[in-house]
Amino acid sequence: MNSNQCKIKKDSVHTSHQWDYSIINENMNDQLLNQFITKSFKEFINQIITESLKVQGAFFIADMNGKLLESHVFSDWVYTNKLNFILEPDVVWDKSELGVNALNKCISHLELSMVYLEEHTYEPFKKYITSAVPIPIVFSVVNNQKVVLGAILEQDENMNELFVIKSLGMSFQSILHKNIEAHLNFKLYTENLKISKEHKLKEQLYQINKNLQSKLDGDLILSEVIQKIKDIYPRCEVQLFLSLDNKPNTSLKSISFDVNEDPYCKRAFMEGEIQVQRLESDNQLISVPLRGLQAVYGVFRIQTNLEVFCDKEINFVSMLADSAGVAFENAKLLEQSNSLIGELRLINDITRRLNKSLNLYELFDYISNELINIFNADFGCILEFNKEKNQIIIKSSNIPNLTNDVFSINYGFSGVVNQTKEGLIVQDYNTDPSVSSKVMEITKSRSLIASPILVNDEVSGVVMFTNQMPNFFTYDNFRMLQILSTHIGLAMSNAMLHDEMNRMVITDNLTGLYARHYLDEQVTKMLIDHHYGSLILFDIDFFKKVNDQYGHQLGDKILKQVSKIIQSCIRDSDIAARWGGEEIAVYIPEAKVEQAIKIAERIRNRVYNETNPRVSVSCGISDWSLDDKIIGVENLIYKADMALYEAKKLGRNQIQVNE
Ligand code: GH3
Ligand code: MG
Ligand code: MG
Repeated sequence: MNSNQCKIKKDSVHTSHQWDYSIINENMNDQLLNQFITKSFKEFINQIITESLKVQGAFFIADMNGKLLESHVFSDWVYTNKLNFILEPDVVWDKSELGVNALNKCISHLELSMVYLEEHTYEPFKKYITSAVPIPIVFSVVNNQKVVLGAILEQDENMNELFVIKSLGMSFQSILHKNIEAHLNFKLYTENLKISKEHKLKEQLYQINKNLQSKLDGDLILSEVIQKIKDIYPRCEVQLFLSLDNKPNTSLKSISFDVNEDPYCKRAFMEGEIQVQRLESDNQLISVPLRGLQAVYGVFRIQTNLEVFCDKEINFVSMLADSAGVAFENAKLLEQSNSLIGELRLINDITRRLNKSLNLYELFDYISNELINIFNADFGCILEFNKEKNQIIIKSSNIPNLTNDVFSINYGFSGVVNQTKEGLIVQDYNTDPSVSSKVMEITKSRSLIASPILVNDEVSGVVMFTNQMPNFFTYDNFRMLQILSTHIGLAMSNAMLHDEMNRMVITDNLTGLYARHYLDEQVTKMLIDHHYGSLILFDIDFFKKVNDQYGHQLGDKILKQVSKIIQSCIRDSDIAARWGGEEIAVYIPEAKVEQAIKIAERIRNRVYNETNPRVSVSCGISDWSLDDKIIGVENLIYKADMALYEAKKLGRNQIQVNE
């Protein structure tokens, strides 16, 4: 081999490395290094062969302990058999056995070494030249590992062995470094890729976060996050499960959240921690809680498609969900405080309205219509208990043909409310057949909220609303209904007290008949509205004597007996009132005098026969018609009084008519 034959590519030799690999935080292990050495040595040998360098001998690589890592014997070299074993990989060139040779010298002096022919002490080497050159392995700043490239060569007059081994050493070093560098570059590239991907995700997260926190609409926040996840991971399928109280309004579809269906989803929701489930065929199901600072509101379920998220990506979606959770919570809080203000305003309006009206049934219609709107209910009704008859009656309702329907007191959901004295919420009537309800059946409803109307701590009625959708009413609706039903109870109690007061005002205490002013008022109206009518005035005969004889108390009893007889002889439309001490007036609307005489006669007769001790009554009758010159209550009374006076005068216990 001469110098012409030995072409070394100068430009492929790296004298110093320009790359800073210190960012690669990994020491190259021996196994990896050996792979590079083996690979580089093969390339090195191939280069020698392809460049047709005539080499009579063998090349080898050894470590700094003299152990051979790789060797190559050129095919047309005929060499002493005794050299066979020392060119095997893993053989250690033991100094005591192999004596002076270039490898040993090179390891001791760390420099290019050559040993010629007879200089060797080991007999088989004596025919050859051994040479060895230390090769530094450069892959990190701190590294100073070395290997040795060695050769056993036939002596060749035309060859400058020193130059050849120097050049080939550089060539091998260059190949080795090129391979190491390529590896490091690849690592650097992938590392950079990872960093830039991370950076991009962080930037995205920052932008998304900024965007979300500026939004005040919870639904919008959630749909935007779902869209973002879909944009970033287009192959993934994203679903959002929301807990019932956070049911979206319009823009977002919520999937009913049966937590028991998916234990991972359930755990994510209950524990507020991300759950990763590995599915077959390299897919993952990632359940990410929608977590605010105060609670977990739902779960995002991300199903990957032929990809597995790394920790950083899982971390990313978790941070994204957290960011959405906080934004959603803020929006919710705002919404809640707004709705609280709305609720207070509503309660205020309704109570003001309730306090205005004292007519119970007018109230029921108003409440029922108003609350149907507030709760977006399909149907609503207000039922009133009749404890005496053990019945409950629908007093107001928008359900066709159901108003005034009567049920047994323990029937249906109103029965449950009556027994428990508490409100109830039904999520799905179809799946809970424990209570049967005509209202639910007729209206084909599935959701219901109901609340008792309590008056003096007693259930007086039930207010209930239904919707044909399942899971329709929220806990907030239920809470609101309870607040309002307290006010309805108060309004009902007011109306009942008012009714009672009115009744008392127009009623005479002792006899239970109407008071005089009521008859006065009613007759005044009828004189305007009607065409004719009659008035009978009764006076108990010799009542002073009765009192004197039996005492005032018994006198009262007789007065009550007479009142009862009168009451039983007239119709509901007739008005009987206590006119004075023991005088009773009865007005019979649209009755001619003949009819009045009949009634008066019946009463007179029964009083005489049924009172005990017996008393009799005298009666004076007057009537009026449109033909009269004077039409007025006073005139009518005056005429009846005159007739009564006549009856007294003519012997009492008789009827006289004022002509
Ligand atoms: P007559 O009408 O037949 O002429 O005789 P009289 O004794 O009934 O006389 P008058 O109608 O003038 O007297 C009414 C008496 O009725 C006076 C009073 O003692 C009695 N009286 C009036 N109001 C009540 C009452 O609320 N309870 C009782 N026990 N007695 C009454
Ligand atoms: Mg009298
Ligand atoms: Mg009298």
